[in-house]
Amino acid sequence: MTASRVLVLNSGSSSVKYQLLDMADRSRLATGLVERIGEETSRLVHEPLTGPAAARGKREQVGPIADHEAALKAVAAELAADGTGLDSPELAAVGHRVVHGGTRFTRPTVIDDEVLAEIRNLIPLAPLHNPANVTGIEVARSLRADIPQVAVFDTAFHSTMPEHVARYAIDAGTAEAYSIRRYGFHGTSHAYVSRATAALLGRPVEDVNVIVLHLGNGASASAVRGGVCVETSMGMTPLEGLVMGTRSGDLDPAVVFHLARVGGLSVDEIDSLLNKKSGLLGMCGDNDMREVLRRAGEGDESARLAFEAYVHRLKKYIGAYAAVLGRVDAVAFTAGVGENAHQVREAALDGLAELGLALDLEANAARSPQPRLISADHARVAVAVVPTDEELEIATQTYALVTR
Ligand code: ADP
Repeated sequence: MTASRVLVLNSGSSSVKYQLLDMADRSRLATGLVERIGEETSRLVHEPLTGPAAARGKREQVGPIADHEAALKAVAAELAADGTGLDSPELAAVGHRVVHGGTRFTRPTVIDDEVLAEIRNLIPLAPLHNPANVTGIEVARSLRADIPQVAVFDTAFHSTMPEHVARYAIDAGTAEAYSIRRYGFHGTSHAYVSRATAALLGRPVEDVNVIVLHLGNGASASAVRGGVCVETSMGMTPLEGLVMGTRSGDLDPAVVFHLARVGGLSVDEIDSLLNKKSGLLGMCGDNDMREVLRRAGEGDESARLAFEAYVHRLKKYIGAYAAVLGRVDAVAFTAGVGENAHQVREAALDGLAELGLALDLEANAARSPQPRLISADHARVAVAVVPTDEELEIATQTYALVTR
């Protein structure tokens, strides 16, 4: 029997999301998450998806889970109860989502001590994310030291951006000294969705130019030429680019100096303001697009303004990326907002007929979990809704590396 299962771990600062997949048929065996790690009310939700355990449905436990080690051990116990434990000989590898790979990691990488040290070295570039990723890796290694642990980096897909796109126009020595450049994030999703869009069009990925709009709580756009990323909206950190749930996206960097000099805010306060209290939340008090849409529909002025700012930024990026690509074959919407909010899709593409973009409004408004086309028949550019699947992509990349 060849081991064909991959456990995908996405460790956040206070949460762990996981999926167990069988790459023999790309099926999902279990999925779940642990949240509020370190609090009294930690919660583990585990859902077996095959076998007799699946028939009994989701299991949930609430109670203190002290740290990531305890969280992963609790997850391991749930998987073992389904007969799919971490000790199973069928487990081929663990795939870890790692947010920042810097310039060094441009493809999935088997983690050894040296790689782990390098991911640790990148913590200053991703202080919120990489520490949790490192902890997840350490714990998983201690549980199964004998199988490969693979890091799949959020930044990797964007490493093909040309140098003049990746560079900020600042003093070259300073940029070099502090690793200041545009790395981009959500790469696993942009990779998956750009390929899935080509498949939806029935064309080889090498022939297709796609603008991918990943609109979740965090949001980013990318321009993908023939399967290769040539531009993306997030930068050195995930703060740059689109208006997001709680992040401002692009702004004049002098706003930061002004807040420090005139507002008397500390660097940490400004960091928190721009990352956690801005975007939709900052403009109207809600970061969930469903609430923003509901309130805007009831005539709430600040919600309407937040929606319009969100859509305007999106439209600017679509136009910019059409210029970058020269020829656009498809625009693909994905993630929570992109997959579900037809109002956002409609408003973002409104008035872009000159770029070959036109929606079939009925198809746009129809709900479906499937990849689908929503452009008008006469439109030159296809518009697609393509549900993202970052876990499947991480598992695919992990499995391909360990079975090579
Ligand atoms: P992340 O992985 O970044 O946390 P998701 O891709 O799951 O985010 O997207 C979460 C966001 O998707 C929510 O904050 C919400 O704004 C939006 N969303 C989810 N469902 C809908 C819906 N039916 N209509 C509009 N927005 C939605």
